[in-house]
Amino acid sequence: MPTLRSLEALEREGLLSPDPRLEAAAQSMAIAVTAEMAALIDRADLAHDPIARQFVPSVAETEVSPEELADPIGDEFRSPVKGIVHRYPDRVLLKPLHVCPVYCRFCFRREKVGPGGEALSADELDAALAYIRARPEIWEVILTGGDPLMLAPRRLGELLAALDAVSHVAVIRIHSRVPLADPGRITDELVAALRPRRAGVWLGVHCNHARELTVDARTALTRLASAGLPLMSQTVLLKGVNDDVETLEQLMRALVAARVKPYYLHHPDLVRGTGHFRVSIAEGQALMKTLRGRLSGLAQPTYVLDVPGGHGKVPVGPAYLGDDPDALTVQDAFGGSHPYPPR
Ligand SMILES: *Cc1c(COP(=O)(O)O)cnc(C)c1O
Ligand code: SF4
Repeated sequence: MPTLRSLEALEREGLLSPDPRLEAAAQSMAIAVTAEMAALIDRADLAHDPIARQFVPSVAETEVSPEELADPIGDEFRSPVKGIVHRYPDRVLLKPLHVCPVYCRFCFRREKVGPGGEALSADELDAALAYIRARPEIWEVILTGGDPLMLAPRRLGELLAALDAVSHVAVIRIHSRVPLADPGRITDELVAALRPRRAGVWLGVHCNHARELTVDARTALTRLASAGLPLMSQTVLLKGVNDDVETLEQLMRALVAARVKPYYLHHPDLVRGTGHFRVSIAEGQALMKTLRGRLSGLAQPTYVLDVPGGHGKVPVGPAYLGDDPDALTVQDAFGGSHPYPPR
């Protein structure tokens, strides 16, 4: 089955009931549900399915509240050249293209991604590479987009080779949904394009539910790990997808078992039309506290918030130390509170 790319295609597959109000949701962002993801959806309980909720448009997307932003993490404020976001001194984002294997309805770049958004032209990519070459403080280049693993293997290989030739770039990090959402794209050719280089190449996979780690996805991850790529994950905390402790526990355990180190649990950004996905920071902290008591340290992500306005990411707890510096208390992972000497 090809990737489903329209309301009609989703309706035909029994993944959506027709509703005229969905047109507006479909127009606000591109649609793509790969065969792998469509196969995971429980058609008998569409309303509560965590995979459908991530990828199938819903009427709730047309509800925009005043605090929601077109550029929720302030990428525009920090873009010196097209395709580059330079927010932290030692690292830049490089966005070579805007297409993704799936379109996530909660995406923090939902107004930028999609087949309509243009990839960087050859000249624009040269200008972005020139920006990186001219700045020795750039230690790490993070390829994102869109999804960099949607590039043809030959183009991806050329881009990695160009970055690898910049001697001050020590690390190339790639963020992708492809290994899980479309594992068939992890071909020998693609793996060869990612082969070890002078610079360390890391791969971060976006995964929000244990169900996404299918047999094929795990096979793709094994091939990538065997090719020498360290693997880590990013998860977005999403209401109705993974905002309960059992779901998060299963997800983090499944990732570690697949040799993927949980890196970040993202608090959902203030993206327009995504109020139905948002949880409170207090709920996120409570979930993290419970995970701390239940899970191996290997399986603990850092819970982070991207501060609106382009101010970057910070961990948002929970905190384990009491507020009074003269009578310090520390809470354990099971809720107990204990005094600790000030020095
Ligand atoms: C998220 C992000 C990074 C990477 O942040 P890490 O904390 O290193 O993972 C870098 N630049 C920008 C603009 C970002 O949004
Ligand atoms: S794969 Fe990433 S960039 Fe693409 S739609 Fe999903 S969250 Fe957005």
